[in-house]
Amino acid sequence: MQLARDLLDEIVAHSRDDLPNECCGLIGGSNGKMTSVHRARNAAGTWLRYELHPTDQLRIMNRLEADGEDLVGIYHSHTKSEAFPSQTDINLADAWPDPLYLICSLERPDDPVVRAFAIRDGDVEEVDLDVA
Ligand SMILES: [Zn+2]
Repeated sequence: MQLARDLLDEIVAHSRDDLPNECCGLIGGSNGKMTSVHRARNAAGTWLRYELHPTDQLRIMNRLEADGEDLVGIYHSHTKSEAFPSQTDINLADAWPDPLYLICSLERPDDPVVRAFAIRDGDVEEVDLDVA
């Protein structure tokens, strides 16, 4: 999956802006390429988990459709743990198995790590991010 450097930077910036809470958002694209990053509010408002704000989710989905993009990814941050899906994340992914799940870890604040996963039927598989 291809991801431009500036979009990766935007995910990291959002993760930092929403500290101490987890952040979340949606990623548009098509054909193996991520082309847009859209911030959403975390309706849960906590560092323990994320919950895409339903109004933001609807707004962004409409925007993607208007721009001819597909929903290819959902991102969120881990403020105190590694960039790997928690059991909560795996359970949440049941509802939306198609997009990739990107996690930005700020466990080491000066060394953010972003990784991508396919999560289907409770299975987690890491997907290489081709950052250019
Ligand atoms: Zn998580």
